[in-house]
Amino acid sequence: MRRKIIAGNWKMHKTSSETGEFIGRLWDAMGRKEAHCEVIVAPPFTSIAAAVDATRGGAVKVSAQDVHWENQGAYTGEVSGAMVKDSGCSHVIVGHSERRQWFGETDESVNLKIKAALRHGLIPIFCLGESLEEREASKTFEVLERQVSRGLDGVQIASPDRLVIAYEPVWAIGTGRTASPEQAQEAHAFIRGGVGSLFGRELGGNVRILYGGSVKPENTRGLMSRGDIDGALVGGASLKIDDFMGIITESA
Ligand code: PEP
Repeated sequence: MRRKIIAGNWKMHKTSSETGEFIGRLWDAMGRKEAHCEVIVAPPFTSIAAAVDATRGGAVKVSAQDVHWENQGAYTGEVSGAMVKDSGCSHVIVGHSERRQWFGETDESVNLKIKAALRHGLIPIFCLGESLEEREASKTFEVLERQVSRGLDGVQIASPDRLVIAYEPVWAIGTGRTASPEQAQEAHAFIRGGVGSLFGRELGGNVRILYGGSVKPENTRGLMSRGDIDGALVGGASLKIDDFMGIITESA
């Protein structure tokens, strides 16, 4: 049984004080107990300490939004896996399409970052997904196949809970346009098959694959009812307590 994950990617939003306040209110909204699913928030680096402080014994986990692939060195502005781990994060988002689009992230750098995350005991939330152009050119599966095989090339995964995958079709991120449950299910099943052929059926069958792209409380239930959809990576709607809590509730 794969326990669902609802993760909020805050992108470049929320200062430390806003982060502490949000997590306090989220904890209240959760009835001050663990939810049915794993709940993760990914604040900007500068708010991680405040998030870790406010997470109340781990009922809300904290993820970073990126990590460098080297352990240390002359990389101005970058943050290593050891630093992310030391800051109290359990997870790190790797390969988000905004980083691929605006910051030159490639399948190769994503691969190195996944390895760095695992090396430092972090669970990578490995994002992948096709652009609108690729979908319209019927290249979705070709793109997903490439992203899975290159992103996970040479990666060693000790157990299925050491990796999370997020299928995020680029055309659905921040656009208000969500993949239909059928489109998402089809992509998730394909990705699961790809992970299974790389690491064996046992791992493929147990790894959690989240859907991301304009998830809101109203579309959560339809998406989560599909067999291969194990939760959501939420952008915009994770910034508002009512929406984020609504998604947590609707995913049960
Ligand atoms: C994201 O950035 O990972 C995301 C899914 O954003 P949104 O929910 O706003 O589409």
